[in-house]
Amino acid sequence: MTAGEIKGALVHRARALGFDACRVARCDSPSHAAEFRQWLAQNSAGEMSWMERGADKRCDPQQVLPGAKSVIVLALNYWQGASTPSDRRRQTGRIARYAWGDDYHDLIERKLIQLNRFLEEHGGRQKCYVDTGPVLERDFAAAAGIGWHGKSTMLVDQQLGTWFFLAEILTTLELPPDEPQRSRCGSCNRCIDVCPTRAITSAHRLDARRCISYLTIELKGSIPIELRPLIGDRIYGCDDCLEICPWNRFASASRETAFAARPAVGMRLRDYLELDDAQFRALFRGSPIKRIKRRGFLRNVCVALGNVGDESDLPALEAAATDSEPLIAEHANWAIDAIRARRTSCKSVATLNDVASARS
Ligand code: SF4
Ligand code: SF4
Repeated sequence: MTAGEIKGALVHRARALGFDACRVARCDSPSHAAEFRQWLAQNSAGEMSWMERGADKRCDPQQVLPGAKSVIVLALNYWQGASTPSDRRRQTGRIARYAWGDDYHDLIERKLIQLNRFLEEHGGRQKCYVDTGPVLERDFAAAAGIGWHGKSTMLVDQQLGTWFFLAEILTTLELPPDEPQRSRCGSCNRCIDVCPTRAITSAHRLDARRCISYLTIELKGSIPIELRPLIGDRIYGCDDCLEICPWNRFASASRETAFAARPAVGMRLRDYLELDDAQFRALFRGSPIKRIKRRGFLRNVCVALGNVGDESDLPALEAAATDSEPLIAEHANWAIDAIRARRTSCKSVATLNDVASARS
């Protein structure tokens, strides 16, 4: 088989496995290697020290797979359509769309094993990654023509919009590369303007330490007090800069049923506070949310209740304030104070209104 025929057969197999795109980039140095090092030097990665540890490999794919010639990039759509499992009447929290259903890592890895086998049959040596490998995956995806670098720093694709997972296969096979897409952001700045925490400091620049996805998922400890009110009702990740992107008008619903929303993502906020460790693990078994464990998740729930909860949530928060996990107890106390402060300011406004109407 020629290299072109191997690539054609690979793309065919990837499609049959459910991938929405399978394209190839040359295994050169990633285009944002220098910016990535600068970003790390500015400490913009916050507590994500694993990024620093793998920095040399991320900037030089030959250190990941000596002799690598091509990077095969795969995209899998996870969009579940416009409806959401959140129900404002029941005070549910918001969870990033990618985490509504089953964990994508295992599901995609199983598909990659099959593609790896096919490439081995044709003499290739491979390294396969889903999200967690030491690879600047967005650079290779953009070079292969799966989206362009949006101003949000996320990839945007003409067909898929912003809702897709990426996976990469580094291979020693030299496959014909695909053409990149040109950027179609134009004068749009919607993702920058919508960010609740101003984490996108300018086009293509993200201060991860302010990003709600970082604060609610990557950060292990206490959420900075000044950022808590900006988190609103988000309890796992944030989709605002994706949701607003006009290129999502072409997005279609994923064919992957494993990504459909579980009932656990639509629960009333205060009901999460009743979960003990075993119940949390059972509820989120096989979900990306299990990664932040009960202590991280209940921390986030407390912050959301502090922002959108009311007096009816106080008993659950008071119980959480006695939790043996200090992180949960501290955030529960903050939420109690936030709800009480809101109640006091509402009463003050009501009193002022009464005085004003009595005078008129
Ligand atoms: S995920 Fe949310 S907080 Fe983070 S950059 Fe996007 S809009 Fe801002
Ligand atoms: S919202 Fe606008 S600026 Fe941001 S990524 Fe989408 S098209 Fe680009």
